[in-house]
Amino acid sequence: MSDLRHDPINDQWVAIAKNRIQRPMEFVPIEQRRQQLLCPFCKGNEEQTPAAIAHYDENGTPLSDPKAWMVRVVPNKYPSFSRNGSASHPAVSGAGQSEICESNSGYGVQELIIPSPRHITSISELNDQELRLALKVAQDRIADLNSMDGVKHAMLFMNCRFAAGASLGHIHMQLIGSPVVSSHLQNRFDRDQSHRQKHGCSLIESLMNWEIEQSERIVTLTDAFCVVCPFASRSPFQVRIIPRDTRSGYLDLDSQGLAELAQHCRQVVTMLESQIQEPAYNLLLHLDPFAGDRSNWFVELLPRLTKGAGFELGTDIWVNPVPPESAAEQLRS
Ligand SMILES: [Zn+2]
Repeated sequence: MSDLRHDPINDQWVAIAKNRIQRPMEFVPIEQRRQQLLCPFCKGNEEQTPAAIAHYDENGTPLSDPKAWMVRVVPNKYPSFSRNGSASHPAVSGAGQSEICESNSGYGVQELIIPSPRHITSISELNDQELRLALKVAQDRIADLNSMDGVKHAMLFMNCRFAAGASLGHIHMQLIGSPVVSSHLQNRFDRDQSHRQKHGCSLIESLMNWEIEQSERIVTLTDAFCVVCPFASRSPFQVRIIPRDTRSGYLDLDSQGLAELAQHCRQVVTMLESQIQEPAYNLLLHLDPFAGDRSNWFVELLPRLTKGAGFELGTDIWVNPVPPESAAEQLRS
């Protein structure tokens, strides 16, 4: 069980999660590796993970036979957030409550969605069917979190390779249901709300329309999605995949929408890998807090090609040496 602690200076929540130091690390130097080198996410090694929450066949149908899976959902073995707690209880093992520093028991959900029984290490190695299915399973799991008391936000992401925070190579999604809404999310939500009041449409819709008019940072444009290197990209080759229909939410995407989203995700990673050898990257699904507008969502690829240092840590201003106009041109080529 972790503690969630609030820093009032930066208006920032931090998860203190001692148990995560026990994670097996596949990427540390070979002499430091732990004995267990068996990949817990490969088919046949199911007993290496906690009992599955769900498993699905190639059509996305829940399975009764736990061995015949195409997509598998398991609890994180070393969670920062766990169902064993109460959202209303303060941390029991932390420094205790005070008027100035809030804390919380780290109640929440942390699940892994394993999109393939094959040992593959990047989204580009998944086929369209596997990724579409994993995105469909993510819809079901997010809907489940949305119905849980005390879970206020869902964050779905993929960390690929060591520099992006992955501890195991086998590609997997993580889904975290958090009991708090961070100041970062709240600020984004508030900015969107005031933009809607002023302009009658969401901030992401206005931004997307402006990028389409400008056109030089567009990577791919279809009837359903705009793929763009954003004007103020904070890292080289940052990409946003934005739905053109900004009135329906991620959970409303039908099979065709999921298939196209999967295709764009694979395509941008493949494009990135054609420019950079084995890049570490994070793929994020941005959703509003559950209490907010369900239609506000987009997917973001954040390659980890530069390291935030003192300036970034002190100011949260990111220095990016690759202009997004050149990044888009290179990805298109
Ligand atoms: Zn594996």
